[in-house]
Amino acid sequence: MGWDFETEPEFQKKLDWMETFVREEIFPLETLAEHWRSDAGRAQFKSITDPMKEEVKKKGLWAAHLPPDMGGLGFGQVKLGLMHEILGQTPYGPSIFGNNAPDSGNAELIAVGGTEQQKKDWMEPLLAGKYRSCFSMTEPGAGADPTLLTTNAMLDGDEWVINGHKWFSSNASVSDFLLVMARTGDADTSAYKAFSMFIVPTKTKGVNILRDVPTMGEPDHKTGEPGGHAEIIYDNVRVPFDAIVGGKDGIGQGFALAQKRLGPGRIHHAMRWLGQSRRAFDIMCERSLSRYTHGSILAEKQMIQDYIAESYAERQAARLLTLQAAWKMDQLHAAGKHYSDARVEIGVIKFWGAKVLYNVIDRAIQVHGSLGYTTDLPLESMYRHARAARIYDGPDEVHKVTVARQVLKDYRPHEVPSEHVPTRRRAAIEKFAEYLEGVDG
Ligand SMILES: Cc1cc2nc3c(=O)[nH]c(=O)nc-3n(C[C@H](O)[C@H](O)[C@H](O)COP(=O)(O)OP(=O)(O)OC[C@H]3O[C@@H](n4cnc5c(N)ncnc54)[C@H](O)[C@@H]3O)c2cc1C
Repeated sequence: MGWDFETEPEFQKKLDWMETFVREEIFPLETLAEHWRSDAGRAQFKSITDPMKEEVKKKGLWAAHLPPDMGGLGFGQVKLGLMHEILGQTPYGPSIFGNNAPDSGNAELIAVGGTEQQKKDWMEPLLAGKYRSCFSMTEPGAGADPTLLTTNAMLDGDEWVINGHKWFSSNASVSDFLLVMARTGDADTSAYKAFSMFIVPTKTKGVNILRDVPTMGEPDHKTGEPGGHAEIIYDNVRVPFDAIVGGKDGIGQGFALAQKRLGPGRIHHAMRWLGQSRRAFDIMCERSLSRYTHGSILAEKQMIQDYIAESYAERQAARLLTLQAAWKMDQLHAAGKHYSDARVEIGVIKFWGAKVLYNVIDRAIQVHGSLGYTTDLPLESMYRHARAARIYDGPDEVHKVTVARQVLKDYRPHEVPSEHVPTRRRAAIEKFAEYLEGVDG
């Protein structure tokens, strides 16, 4: 029997250390978020967090997202899930442990698709925390359907010339390099073979970052601060022939590579959401035991108990679904197979995990009344950021389409429903005829 819901004691010790470290060292950083936004504040933030990163490295917990054959620590997705659940509680957690989006997914992309030289030049500094990166795919005119992307790259001698307009290129304005999806195939090429992924140093001439687009998550975001979502014009950007991820062999492989990146990227998000929803849940439970109104504490009111029970059940379901998806990915990796065989599991946790995150934070705000709506608690910020989870890395609807299509492959149409009772009754009478004398069909 292979059903096991326990964590190895040795790994549990690491998780316990992480939990204490995150709560005692990283949580306090959140309260100074405004201060870190100035140049001086950013320098102070670095002075405080660099030694933290060293401590994480000494503990052997830095950049745990890649398997050893790709230059990582080899924890696998299940262990990574348990780690991310702790790190995801705070927006600063993942970067202090070297596995923050989008860098973690980008390192994975170069690891699976890059040439040896690209791994040395770009992935290794990324894993070492020396570089920051950006994944630049979405355009104002094309997002959920990437076959509509119009950014293109034309070969001119031994250089590619990239032209196009992207937006929501997260972290572009603080990045060292961009992974840019551009069309290299002609109009006759199938859309899924027509795109390639380019490594473009951000300082390259023609990379014009117009702005970081202010969002619901960060309405007063200033261009050039970490965590921005940039709008970029690629204006005759020239890169060498071998700038395509995978070199010559990577021509036309853009979508295949993006899928390889987005699978792990999505589950990493879902893992972090577990931590966020756990934190919101804890805040809600504490309040329900503390606030007295209309003759009792909130915890004694049935509607609040409903919020708590629903939230507990939803969180537990999201956690088990996420860990099961992670387990399947580990099995596939061990068998030398691609993660795309786990697309149903990953699709489910992408939309279900985002929904649970949103629901739990929403209920936690409700239980706090006016206090929940203020910036005196982290809930309002969590809520604003959680809304995006239903959109980025593919909106809910697209994941539901994937899940439903895959699930339906196991079914066939039946003119008469296969569970049609009169039909089944007739068949049962025929089957047991020798015992059922006199029973009508
Ligand atoms: C915070 C944030 C960070 C992001 N970071 C990045 C990044 O780093 N790099 C990057 O390239 N992109 C990034 N994105 C972009 C993100 O991936 C896109 O927003 C997403 O793919 C959806 O594309 P779109 O916004 O163009 O929406 P559209 O494609 O215009 O879709 C709009 C809506 O249409 C509906 N819809 C779409 N398709 C279907 C369908 N098949 N069936 C039913 N309904 C459908 C959905 O409701 C969807 O929300 C980020 C987005 C956000 C919000």
